[in-house]
Amino acid sequence: MWAMTPTHLNALHPVRLDAAGLPIFGFSISGLATWLIAPTLGVCFDMGECPLEALSIDHVLLTHAHGDHARCVPRHWQLRRMIGNPRPSRYLMPAPLVGPFADWIRAEARMEGVQGEVSLPELVGLSPGEVAPLRDDLRVTAFAASHTVLSLGYTVSERRKKLKAALEGMPGDKLAALRRQGVTLHEDRLIPKITFIGDCVASTLRDEAHIWRSPVLVIETTFVEPQEEALAAPRGHTHLNELAAVLRELGDAPEVKALVLKHFSMRVDPARARALIQATLPEARRDRILVLLPPESAA
Ligand SMILES: [Zn+2]
Ligand SMILES: [Zn+2]
Repeated sequence: MWAMTPTHLNALHPVRLDAAGLPIFGFSISGLATWLIAPTLGVCFDMGECPLEALSIDHVLLTHAHGDHARCVPRHWQLRRMIGNPRPSRYLMPAPLVGPFADWIRAEARMEGVQGEVSLPELVGLSPGEVAPLRDDLRVTAFAASHTVLSLGYTVSERRKKLKAALEGMPGDKLAALRRQGVTLHEDRLIPKITFIGDCVASTLRDEAHIWRSPVLVIETTFVEPQEEALAAPRGHTHLNELAAVLRELGDAPEVKALVLKHFSMRVDPARARALIQATLPEARRDRILVLLPPESAA
């Protein structure tokens, strides 16, 4: 069908973006692969392909088990071991997937002739609402995303120690006295850095309203062509027109400084997708929209 793979369909050809000051790069086309690295946070969202750049990443946050999002988890783990990476590899995922992923890694090892016990990476199962540590200064919060299979979205936040809200405004001598009595004065506050959803229907964008408090929000608009609108919800996806409706309802959600759109269908023409996005989304938002596609579809 294609004489050469066009750039925008080459899963090892990442698109690099400055998302409101946060560098991110990755690839996301429906059915082919989705992966997105935030290098300063040390995380990769999904692992539908495993570029060499991912081998320095310790934490992989998997949204769901569809192959285009998850099929390179064993490859990431094996390549990191092959190059002698000394740090643990951690794969965070919806809790019911931990057993099947362990079975998958064991099966691959058996096929490659490993006898006896198969060593496994750290597979961390999460449920909606759960918070897990990444680095000392980072936490990830999982939330439900509605798709055709069990899915989670993730918000990666910076952990900052702050004076407890109830103690704010209290004079210094009183705080010192409380400290002497052994009262804990500080608590952790989570400051969102980026929120990522793999695949979801548009209702998730309303049900999980907290996502609009992230400075960087990465979501899907698998379908952009006007005649494709009826395809989106039955297939567990979002159409550009549905996103436009959500944005109009929200009015201005100023906390989202960069709204990154991804996971376009394989039929997408990058230039046409950009034009449709610009024409469809509310004007006040347009300068904050980033598209995870190369500028054009050159081979
Ligand atoms: Zn997908
Ligand atoms: Zn999917």
